Amino acid sequence: MSKISYVYGDNLYLNITNRCMMSCPYCIKRKWDNKFRGDNLKLEREPSYKEVILAIKDPKEYSEIVFCGYGDSLVNVETVKEISKWIKDNGGKVRVNTAGLANRYHSRNILPELKGFIDVISISLNGSNPKEYNEINRPMFKEESFNEVVKFAKEAKKCVPKVVITAVESLGFDISKVREIAEELGVQFKVRPYLTDEN
Ligand code: SF4
Repeated sequence: MSKISYVYGDNLYLNITNRCMMSCPYCIKRKWDNKFRGDNLKLEREPSYKEVILAIKDPKEYSEIVFCGYGDSLVNVETVKEISKWIKDNGGKVRVNTAGLANRYHSRNILPELKGFIDVISISLNGSNPKEYNEINRPMFKEESFNEVVKFAKEAKKCVPKVVITAVESLGFDISKVREIAEELGVQFKVRPYLTDEN
């Protein structure tokens, strides 16, 4: 049975959509047949607000509730907003992991709508220029995507207390250049390991 939430470390991860603005060849959902540490993350349908709330139960039990899963939660920005509001009202902390293309995808700046509801936004930036980024991640908006992600990170600073740019190692691009971009933007930077083992 597919899972809409799973625990990893002290956090609870929410898997609310499998839709994504990217088609990364390195995406582990293909390699691992939509499984993650034993849980099947392939959704038969996207869960409702109520189903997600029931899955969380008590947000205070976790360090963070993280919108992650196999897909980009900000495709479903209305659901993210509703669930995050509930988590905050019930004493929890919210992080959203995203590819950073939601503003372009929705053709509007969605970040002010999330103000006050999310604590951390983690934006992946795997590539240091438009061409390289397009080749590595195969995003929906091709070579325009890189600048969209950088712009998204800049906008996020105005609405979210903590903004982190992340880069996955071993994908063949110069991570130090992405670190420089994060520094120029005045946001935090984190290197993520390339996962090779499902467990
Ligand atoms: S952004 Fe994440 S979920 Fe989407 S295709 Fe890339 S690795 Fe997979």
